[in-house]
Amino acid sequence: MFDVIVIGAGFAGSVLAERLASQKDLKVLLIERRREIGGNCHDFKNELGILLHKYGPHIFHTDNVKVWEYLSQFTKWDVYFHKTLAVVDGNLVPIPFNINTIYKVFPESKARRMEEALLKHFDYNSKVPILQLNESLDGDLRELADFVYEKIFLHYTEKQWGLKPQEISSEVTGRVPIFVGRDDRYFNDRFQAIPHLGYTEIFRNMLAHKNISLMLNTDFHDVCRIENGDIYFMDQKFEGKLIYTGQLDELFDMKYGALPYRSLRLEFETIPVEWYQPTTNVNYPNNYGFTRITEFKHLHPLNCSSTTILKEYPEPHVPGENLPYYPIFTEQNQILYQKYASESVKVDNLIPVGRLAEYRYYDMDDIVARALEVFEKWI
Ligand code: FAD
Ligand code: UDP
Repeated sequence: MFDVIVIGAGFAGSVLAERLASQKDLKVLLIERRREIGGNCHDFKNELGILLHKYGPHIFHTDNVKVWEYLSQFTKWDVYFHKTLAVVDGNLVPIPFNINTIYKVFPESKARRMEEALLKHFDYNSKVPILQLNESLDGDLRELADFVYEKIFLHYTEKQWGLKPQEISSEVTGRVPIFVGRDDRYFNDRFQAIPHLGYTEIFRNMLAHKNISLMLNTDFHDVCRIENGDIYFMDQKFEGKLIYTGQLDELFDMKYGALPYRSLRLEFETIPVEWYQPTTNVNYPNNYGFTRITEFKHLHPLNCSSTTILKEYPEPHVPGENLPYYPIFTEQNQILYQKYASESVKVDNLIPVGRLAEYRYYDMDDIVARALEVFEKWI
């Protein structure tokens, strides 16, 4: 009946389903446990007509021309440059911390010395991870590093991960480096935009192909099982490929224990003011239980006297109770993940791909690129 079964209708599963259906003329069954498509990128309009991101704010940015051109088949874009402010000692300052931020938080003469020291040690427009700046021996840079570490990274990271910045892979805090320049944008990528009608519309367009059958509200375990390295669908041996984008620990019944994830409690609130804050995101590194507030109207401007905001409260992931939003990047967790990865290679025809299945901090463009690569190399 079907040539390929895909588990999960996020970007990983949807890109592969679309490619296999449209380029290889294969019949694809896409199984999704939620009642909606789009995975964590799903968005929807609330009663005011404001487009909300159900699983947290998603900002598209990429340097990858192939990804940009691929997605552009399914959406028009609105150019959008993401800027983020952080509350530091009661003031709103631009982050990534850059030369403009330095002049906002330090007296002018000290700020000038810090700028000169940065330019002496690093190239203009370069990015310096906080853990690298922390190693600096220059007095002014030391002071800058201590300030940024304490006011921007330490408490935010403790809230977000339950860990100190040194306890988590430098890849994570390195996502928001100190920027040795005056560009206030959060990202420097070549392509930065928001899909004109939102993300869900991209998925709708991708999955509209006649060769794709979609089963929502269905868990992998409801219809499939793996036994002695073989895949069964509705109790019949399935000889086609199984592309699996869920958690590998769940696929193998947690036999080595649960893979640690970080979860979020998301609190949406509608407020009777036209605008709540000056940018889409304001980060609260210190105080408060939440890490950041998102105001969605900035992404899709709308004439409306009220506005909807979202507060993100990080919390431990409890399997079955909340969602596994972020893989936690520590050495110990990678070792545990590798045990599940070795199980997965014993199953012929199983292809694990995606942020959950590969236990990687993939951004949307990374996962689209990864799915396109899987399509080209393996299928
Ligand atoms: P997912 O989107 O998680 O999709 C996996 C799908 O599989 C889900 O729909 C799930 O329900 C389904 N599934 C899992 N197990 C089963 C099962 N057993 N049976 C059936 N279905 C199953 N990226 C950016 O580029 N920019 C951003 O600003 C950004 N912001 C983010 C903010 C937050 C809070 C989070 C958590 C992520 C953010 N990302 C962002 C990353 C982005 O969400 C991911 O890159 C993307 O969602 C990964 O796609 P995926 O298909 O691998 O996983
Ligand atoms: N981070 C921080 N303070 C900030 C912003 C980011 O300490 O104001 C750190 C934190 O550890 C976070 C990581 O940098 O998890 C990556 O931030 P990013 O904004 O990329 O997180 P995401 O949008 O993926 O949640």
